[in-house]
Amino acid sequence: MIWNETVECMSREEMRKLQGIRLKRVVERVYHNCEPYRKRMQEAGVSPDDIRSIDDIVKLPFTSKQDLRDYYPFGLLSSPMSEIVRVHASSGTTGKPIIVGLTRNDLAVWKEAGARCLTAYGLGKNDIVQVSYGYGLFTGGLGAHAAVENIGGTVIPMSSGNTQKQIMMMHDLGVKALAATPSYALYLAEAIANSEYPREEFQLKVGIFGAEPWTEGMRRDIEGKLGIKAYDIYGLTEVMGPGVGFECECQNGTHLNEDHFFPEVINSETGEPVAPGEQGELVFSTLTKEGMPLLRFRTRDLTHLIYEKCECGRTLVRMDKILGRCDDMLIIRGVNVYPSQIESVICTMEEVEPHFFITVDRVNNIDTFEIQVEVKEGYYSDEMGKMIALKKKVAHEIQCVVGLQPDIKLVEPRFLQRSEGKAKRVLDKRVFKND
Ligand code: ADP
Ligand code: ZN
Repeated sequence: MIWNETVECMSREEMRKLQGIRLKRVVERVYHNCEPYRKRMQEAGVSPDDIRSIDDIVKLPFTSKQDLRDYYPFGLLSSPMSEIVRVHASSGTTGKPIIVGLTRNDLAVWKEAGARCLTAYGLGKNDIVQVSYGYGLFTGGLGAHAAVENIGGTVIPMSSGNTQKQIMMMHDLGVKALAATPSYALYLAEAIANSEYPREEFQLKVGIFGAEPWTEGMRRDIEGKLGIKAYDIYGLTEVMGPGVGFECECQNGTHLNEDHFFPEVINSETGEPVAPGEQGELVFSTLTKEGMPLLRFRTRDLTHLIYEKCECGRTLVRMDKILGRCDDMLIIRGVNVYPSQIESVICTMEEVEPHFFITVDRVNNIDTFEIQVEVKEGYYSDEMGKMIALKKKVAHEIQCVVGLQPDIKLVEPRFLQRSEGKAKRVLDKRVFKND
């Protein structure tokens, strides 16, 4: 099923025309209502009259997370405060959070985007959806919540935490779909396996997972453990929240709601657009936002775009699964390492659980690279020989993928901390040292 066929299956020419009209409008809006944008555009020597089609977007300057920090809290609003009906914030990494303001119309766009996602997952008004993303300043909870209401489904506003109660509700109420971070879904799957409820008694069929990068291996793992089909949902606070992108039943990329959020991929070092289909940093311009439109916002997320029409019938551009964020990348002894690469290896090995924790340090001017990996029940052994062999195997498999041999520390089942929101899988101690 398709929620908004007119837009989701629009021809490329029509879409570009629509994007052009909307871009022109949003550029006018920020230019006339938001001082920092006007200044930035004047410095770049570009005025709203220079924007005639979507191709002209490259004339506009970029915006970044830093801009949102610099103009904290409301300096980038393009609507008067009287029009702002909701505020959200993203934790960011350090220091001040990033604040965004939304108008009524922004909320309407958000729930439209969310409805497209849920419809693509096969959900409708007869379905019960448990939202286990955190409710509050984080966009996950309220964003998914509005989407369920918009399709006329039944929402259970669980928020995160209280795992036993989550399981009880899921079981007793006949929940069909679970919206959560993939890492929390994995945690719930384990908790269900250890609970008093047999898995066959659950009605759960669909996972709505996002808010952090996850690999195909992780998908298969969760699908197997919960007996469901797991779909990707993508979003970020600055642009909107969950619903910027979604997977359809073909699951060969994440469709982007490009009539509202225009994507580009750039080389993150040079800022130049990459060749079509090439990987780089994802950049979004919000085409219809009123409260805090963002033009050419650099997400730091790494992916590539796929413009061919999808077999589902949608023409909305797709992006490949996010490899990680530029800021997630660890440079260890000169080698680029992404946590998602480690995840992809770990998830294919039957002896270990899909849980790991990377610690990087610098000792005597040499980077150390340690990964704690949880051994599966049944494979954990008191026999040294067996454990050493397993350790070597894991280290070897990881080396084949990242090109660097890690020091593997095997830990017993359930040793590593589980996450109820976004997983934290890296400790880089080098950032605390000034050498
Ligand atoms: P924060 O920057 O505090 O994490 P957000 O909650 O807005 O703020 O998180 C948005 C980021 O989460 C995205 O830029 C992306 O890195 C990640 N993310 C969200 N959804 C997905 C997804 N489906 N796949 C991969 N990464 C995702
Ligand atoms: Zn599709």
